Order: sequence, then C-alpha cells, then structure tokens
Amino acid sequence: AMHRAKSSQSTLYRHEQGLGPAPRVNIEQELRQGLRRNEFELFYQPRVCLRTHRLLGLEALIRWHHPEHGLLSPSEFIQAAEHSGLIVPLGYWIIDQVCHDLQVIQSHGLTEVTVASNLSFRQLQDEQFCQVMPRLLSRSGTDARMLEFELTETAVLTDPARAMKALRAVNDMGATLSLDDFGTGYSSLTHIRQFPISLLKIDRSFTQRVTLDREADSIVRSIINLAHDLQLRVVAEGVENPEQLDFLISNGCDQVQGFLFSHPRPLWETLQMIDHTLRHFAAERSGSASRS
Ligand code: C2E
Ligand code: MG
Ligand code: MG
Ligand code: MG
Repeated sequence: AMHRAKSSQSTLYRHEQGLGPAPRVNIEQELRQGLRRNEFELFYQPRVCLRTHRLLGLEALIRWHHPEHGLLSPSEFIQAAEHSGLIVPLGYWIIDQVCHDLQVIQSHGLTEVTVASNLSFRQLQDEQFCQVMPRLLSRSGTDARMLEFELTETAVLTDPARAMKALRAVNDMGATLSLDDFGTGYSSLTHIRQFPISLLKIDRSFTQRVTLDREADSIVRSIINLAHDLQLRVVAEGVENPEQLDFLISNGCDQVQGFLFSHPRPLWETLQMIDHTLRHFAAERSGSASRS
C-alpha cells in the first residue's frame, strides 16, 4: 500500500494499460459502478488545536473499497474522476456523506467539532453547484458553520471567476474555507487573498523537513508569520513526530494534523481513538484532566 500510494502513476492505470484500447473508459465505468454500488467510504483524520490541545475538526479523506484491487487511496482514482467529470457526482456524494457523518459525530457528544472536506476545481465549475449545495445541506438539516472546504491554489485559480462565485456561495452559507497544500503552488498570495479563505494548511513536504533542514525551518516559520500577518489561522499537515510538534508549538503554529495523532481511519475508529488518545494528549499537555 505504501508503494502504491507513493507512485505517481496509479495501479489502475498500470493494470489497465495492458488490457486493451481504452484504459480510461474502464476506470470511468468502474468509478460509476463504484458510486452506484456504494463502494466509497470517508475516512477521518483529526486536527488538533495547539493552544487548547483539543480536537477542533476532522478532515474527510475518501477511500475506495474496490471489488478487485482492495482499499484504494485518492491518488489512485481522484485524477481519473476529475478527468471524466465523475468527481462532480462523487463530490456531491462526499458532501452528502459528510453531512450524515457530522450528525454521528455530534451525537457522539462532539458538538463543536467541524468537518472538512476537499473540493476539486471541477466541482467548483459545475453549473449546479450553487443550487445543489444548499439543497444537500438543508435536506440533512446541516448547519453549514460546522463545515469546512479545503481547496488547493489550482482549484481556486483555474477559473477564478467561477470559483469565486461557488466559494462565495458556500461562505455565505456559513462554511469556512481553507487553502490546502500551501507552499507547493506557484501563485502569489495576492491572488488568493481575494477569496474568503480563513485558514492556511502548510503542505506536509515542509512539515516533514522541519528540525532536519534549516531551510525548511525558515520556510515554515515564514508561512506561520505570513498567515498571522494576514489574519489567517495556520495548520501544519503531516506532523509525524514530537520534534516537529515542538518546533511548531514554539513557532506559534495554531493547529496540527498528522500521523503523530492519527492516521485517517473509518469514522467509528476515529471516534474511539478520540476517546482514548486525544483526550490523553489534552490532559498531558495542559497538565489538567480533560474529561469533558
Ligand atoms: P490532502 O487534502 O492534502 O490530505 C492530506 C493527505 O496527507 C491525506 O492523504 C492524508 O492521509 C495524508 N497525511 C496526513 N497526515 C500525514 C502524515 O503525518 N504523514 C504522511 N506521510 N501523510 C499524511 P490521502 O488521504 O491519500 O489524500 C491525498 C489527497 O487526495 C488529499 O490531500 C486530497 O488532495 C485528495 N483527496 C482526498 N479525499 C478527497 C475528496 O474527498 N475529494 C477530493 N476532491 N480530493 C480528495
Ligand atoms: Mg485536504
Ligand atoms: Mg494537503
Ligand atoms: Mg494534497
């Protein structure tokens, strides 16, 4: 699985290259069938506040239980879904599922925890986006203020006018927007600033080099300061060890996410993990028991 996730070329593409003339058609059909047969699942990964040491949010990350290939990560099918346009119906399924899962999370007592999901540029370009979103939310009785949407620079800047319209609509409903994978794009923040974004997520390629590489240290430090100057909160993605965590704490990072706390897991496992590990972390770091 590690090898598969790292490879830039997906297993499905490789697998199908030898199968015949139309490899993409196969994965498209499989995606469509997967959607019909309910083969997708949202895994969740916690995001923790470094000031209160508490769980702030959960990020929904899609997985595909493929009938032949087993559990697939997004690197193996999201691109194909974007190419084919199937990301649009899949994206609505994701948002619908997020709304449903939010109710489960709230009934577990986590009433202040937000749920974030990733939006691709194709979803923002859908003509129906501004009509479908409020319908999905009202159908499930979801309070949009509990939702966050993560976007990459590419998603926002591919068709900025369209993206602006879509993002204003969700922001007006009360949802929060975050800029994902920050530091990996080529654009300047001036373009991005027009969008109603309130959170920057530092890409894990930077987080993973801090304390090992002086340049990474200064890049991460500058991103944190830049974000704060612009009144944005900042999250470090991909935190894997205590050294990285301590660096982020001492440099004023607001929030963290990463394998140090938890891998993305099925909702139920995540809820159990929160009960155990995260409450422990909060108690340990704040020096006071946190049983609430
Ligand atoms: P992302 O939104 O930047 O998500 C973070 C990725 O980093 C996730 O990979 C997560 O499992 C991984 N990660 C988190 N903490 C650590 C860590 O400490 N170390 C390491 N090495 N990795 C960590 P995942 O789940 O494979 O997702 C990859 C990308 O696929 C996401 O990047 C996002 O761009 C896309 N994606 C995932 N779910 C969705 C979705 O529902 N819709 C869309 N459009 N894209 C999605
Ligand atoms: Mg994300
Ligand atoms: Mg990211
Ligand atoms: Mg990413």
